[in-house]
Amino acid sequence: MPEDDNFALIDVPSAPLGAGQVRVANRWLSVDPYMRGRMNDVKSYVPPFALGEPMQGGAIGEVVESNSPDLPVGAKVQHMLGWREEAVLDAAEAQQLPPLGVEDQAYLGQLGMPGMTAYFGLLEVASAKPGDVVFVSAAAGAVGSTVVQIAKAKGMTVIGAAGGADKCAWVKELGADHVVDYKAGPVARGLMQAAPEGIDVYFDNVGGDHLDAALLAARLHARFAICGMIDIYNDAKPQELRYLAKVIGARINIRGFIVSDFFAQMGDFYRDMGGWLKEGKLKRHETVHEGIAAMPEAFRGLFTGGNMGKMLVRL
Ligand code: NDP
Repeated sequence: MPEDDNFALIDVPSAPLGAGQVRVANRWLSVDPYMRGRMNDVKSYVPPFALGEPMQGGAIGEVVESNSPDLPVGAKVQHMLGWREEAVLDAAEAQQLPPLGVEDQAYLGQLGMPGMTAYFGLLEVASAKPGDVVFVSAAAGAVGSTVVQIAKAKGMTVIGAAGGADKCAWVKELGADHVVDYKAGPVARGLMQAAPEGIDVYFDNVGGDHLDAALLAARLHARFAICGMIDIYNDAKPQELRYLAKVIGARINIRGFIVSDFFAQMGDFYRDMGGWLKEGKLKRHETVHEGIAAMPEAFRGLFTGGNMGKMLVRL
């Protein structure tokens, strides 16, 4: 678990603005579970964070100085130079917020990277279809809560797992047909009770006992979208899965993915999410910490269940 002394909050002089660059006053910073992976010095799909350098991550802010005609002063943008109050970057590295009529911070959650993860993971990776029985773990989180709602909008039966009665009640409010409180008993037992006939799709955010329960409950030709395994991000030694051999008999299709695999199809995401927003089919919740010094605490909260919906820091 990352501790406070793994981080340092440092004052540096404002960077000068180069040709084609903009200065952005960050207003909202994202903390995301993938950042834990970037703290390990290993080869992965993105390079690790460098020691002594600022962390990076999703941010939303306002252009306060501009050397680019594309992004005038006052433009609201999203970019990847988070974990800092002010960012200086090439205008091409910042995107203006899409005009969906939602609050700015939604573009770090449901209408941004986590929302795209839910949308493409469910519909493309797991090929989920109307009528499917879908199980999603970490269902009260940013990705999971969006999976629940997209699945309902598409006519699926949804079972969401989350930790604690309050989170489970919210997942129900989002439209889930059944909820499993994994802190109240073994997740496998809860899932088998909720879906006695089994599941067609598993959207995995957790790994560990949740993945094992999904294997146990999987129907013939079930499809698993492996999105994340937050249960093991701080573990040196992941637990073994008891039901892995079920993959063979049930001919389960298990596919991992990274949301950037689908960035070229972003237009589909904004079209469908924009439509569901207008129809009032999307609910959102944010857990907000205040001020840059709260970043480590907000980040750690992802691993202890400190958030309902998207975890954010407001500056
Ligand atoms: P969330 O908002 O879901 O926050 C994390 C949540 O995970 C916590 O609130 C907690 O909820 C739950 N959790 C933490 N530890 C455990 C545990 N040991 N067992 C069960 N639940 C746990 O985060 P995101 O929505 O941003 O991310 C969800 C998952 O999606 C992560 O695994 C992340 O890595 C992955 N991801 C993958 C992407 C990809 O491209 N493949 C892109 C984005 C995210 P609770 O209180 O219910 O336990």
